[in-house]
Amino acid sequence: MDEKINKAAQWIKEAKYVVAFTGAGISVPSGIPDFRSPGGLWSHFDPWQVCSDWALQHNPKGVWEFLLEAVFMFNKAEPNPAHLSLAELERRGVLKCIITQNIDGLHQRAGSKNVIEFHGGCTKFYCNDCGKNYSLENLKKLTRENIPWMCTDCGSIVRPDIVFFGEQIPPSALFSSQEHCSKADLMLIIGTSGEVAPANTLPTIVKQNSGKIIEINLGETAYESVSDIRFNRGAEEVLPLIVSKIGGKN
Ligand SMILES: [Zn+2]
Repeated sequence: MDEKINKAAQWIKEAKYVVAFTGAGISVPSGIPDFRSPGGLWSHFDPWQVCSDWALQHNPKGVWEFLLEAVFMFNKAEPNPAHLSLAELERRGVLKCIITQNIDGLHQRAGSKNVIEFHGGCTKFYCNDCGKNYSLENLKKLTRENIPWMCTDCGSIVRPDIVFFGEQIPPSALFSSQEHCSKADLMLIIGTSGEVAPANTLPTIVKQNSGKIIEINLGETAYESVSDIRFNRGAEEVLPLIVSKIGGKN
C-alpha cells in the first residue's frame, strides 16, 4: 500500500495535466448511497417514472417526490476527505479539473472551482417549457403538500438542471470534458465503475494519448484493464495519503 501511495504521488507530481473523473462512490462516505445500490434512490423509485423526459410530461408530482428526497439528502450530506483532497490538489495547482457524474454538488461545497457536472446538478432549476430560471432558495419553500413545483409564469413543471433519462448530455459538458481528457497525461478515476455511457468513454481518451490512469474504486470495475495503478479501497482513505506526499506545483 505505502509503495503504491508513493508511486501515485510521484506520478501526480510529474504530470503536467491531471484531471479527476468521479462518480457515486466518492459521495457514499458522505451518506449518499449510490442510486443503484440497495438503499439507494433507485431501490424505491423507478427511474423512468420519476427521472425521465416521459415523467416530466406525465408524472410531475412523482418527479418532485423524488427530487425533494434527493435534494434533502444532498443538503444534509457534507463533503468527505476525498472531496476535500481534490479541492486541495486544485488549490495547489496540481489538478486542472474534476469531471463528475454526481449531481450532489459536494465537490463545489468542498471548495473545488473547476467542476464539470457531466449529468448536471441539483442547485439550479428552470421551467421545462419557458426556461425561466429558479434558485435553490425558491426550492426551500417546497413541501410534500405543495409539489409539483410549477412555473409562476407559464404553469409548466420546474425541473433541476440535471440530465434526465432519455435526454442528451449537454454538448458543452461533453465537449469540455473531452477537451480536458485529450490534454490530460494523468487521470484519477474515483468511485465510478464505468457502467454509464457516454461518461465511461472518457478514460479511453486519456489512455489513447498515452496518459496514465490511477483508479481508486471499491470492487470490480470496467476500468481494470486500463488502470496503471489501482487501489481497491475507499478514496476518503487513499486520497488524503496521496495528497500528504505531494507538495505544490512550483
Ligand atoms: Zn415557465
